[in-house]
Amino acid sequence: MSETGRLIGETGLVPKKSKGQNFLTDGATADRQVARAGISKGDRVLEVGPGFGVLTERLVRESEHVTCIELDDKLADYISEKFGDAVTLIRGDALKVKWPEFDVFVSNLPYSVSTPIIFKLLEQNFRNAVIMVQKEFAERMTARPGTSDYSRLTVGVYYRSACKMLETVPSSRFNPRPKVDSAVVSLVSRPAPFGVEDEKLFFRVTETCFTHRRKKIGTALKNARIIGGDAELPYLDDRIEVLSPEEIAELSNRIYGLRRAP
Ligand code: SAM
Repeated sequence: MSETGRLIGETGLVPKKSKGQNFLTDGATADRQVARAGISKGDRVLEVGPGFGVLTERLVRESEHVTCIELDDKLADYISEKFGDAVTLIRGDALKVKWPEFDVFVSNLPYSVSTPIIFKLLEQNFRNAVIMVQKEFAERMTARPGTSDYSRLTVGVYYRSACKMLETVPSSRFNPRPKVDSAVVSLVSRPAPFGVEDEKLFFRVTETCFTHRRKKIGTALKNARIIGGDAELPYLDDRIEVLSPEEIAELSNRIYGLRRAP
């Protein structure tokens, strides 16, 4: 029996899809993930969902300031017993609890909540992140404008970071085996490479247009009452998926300008 199979048996855990409980069984993949995170001893590291600690045991070798957030009681008990004071454990839902300050984020994300966790991550101050997600999700994070994978997620990620897919990880490297393959992505935080006058408006324009991605931008924005019927703006006859993040920023800056005009 594999190590993970043994741990599942020993702890009495019944892995749940709703909690994204697919455990990485391949140590070499975990080694590469942690190496790519470039952690220094003084770095504060945050891991969401340590599970049986395949990443955690590598993280505590690199840093003395590792915090883990684990939702599942059995797994939290396991982590607490195995790592003791080497890890600060927060028991709870990573979407609900306040995150501590951190420099580096390393996580094999529970796929059920990947989107809200990434958006929460993007609101924090951090240096870089190495994250395992479903392969399709990684493709959406790194998509080019004009493709069907290009989405609100792509724009949000690009706004805050330089994002790169590092490797794909076959489903056979997890227990229980998920239906789809995974991928490891790296995010390096940086200021947006374009100016945004009003961040809230930029994200509202982005979200509204991607929610109605088949509609013309003008129609989507008018229906949402973000612009009036007679607004003169660029891109209104286009669909959002052809606009680069820079062009979406240009549009939202022009809307901002119209609103401030006397
Ligand atoms: N890091 C381990 C590994 O690589 O094998 C486990 C990764 S597994 C994909 C996801 C982990 O996140 C599980 O331990 C699960 O219990 C935990 N989890 C699921 N939803 C969570 C949430 N909302 N907040 C915190 N942890 C969560």
